[in-house]
Amino acid sequence: MYFHGRPCKQGHTLRRTSDRHCVECNAKRNRDWQSANPSAANLKNREWRKNNPEKSRAQGRKRYARKKAADPRKYMLTCARRRARVRGLECTIAVTDIIIPTHCPLLGTLLVVNEGAHGPNSPSLDRVFNSYGYVPGNVVVVSHQANARKGELSSPDLRTLTRNLARLERDAMHAMIKK
Ligand SMILES: [Zn+2]
Repeated sequence: MYFHGRPCKQGHTLRRTSDRHCVECNAKRNRDWQSANPSAANLKNREWRKNNPEKSRAQGRKRYARKKAADPRKYMLTCARRRARVRGLECTIAVTDIIIPTHCPLLGTLLVVNEGAHGPNSPSLDRVFNSYGYVPGNVVVVSHQANARKGELSSPDLRTLTRNLARLERDAMHAMIKK
């Protein structure tokens, strides 16, 4: 890489690669080649990942964080679809069916969207009725801890949870009947 300050033919004033392409144009060339040769690109990618496991993992983490930051609901939907596929559940919800409230509707704690790994108050997609899949009306966003610790809460928290769960079940049933 080097930089001589003169713009390329496309007018980008950027660093040049060793073969004189500007980095932006070079990236575009690569993208064009990849979409023109999808299977060759796939092979090349796989080979690169195999030879650069550390970089590949770092890249994966970055992509994951970016996706999550851009729209946590999209990320949640991707995960829900994967879980549904694994467990043989129905998944017919769209991004718009996922509503992230400010507070966990089960525990009342403030929901925090984390960039990296999820924390206890990260939003987590829950199915209100376990016997139904990810269908419109049956999904609610709760805190990760409420979702994960449903079975191991202190009794005051558990009472709060059950009281609110009853309300969510009632609302979900109404919502599903309406659809
Ligand atoms: Zn250029």
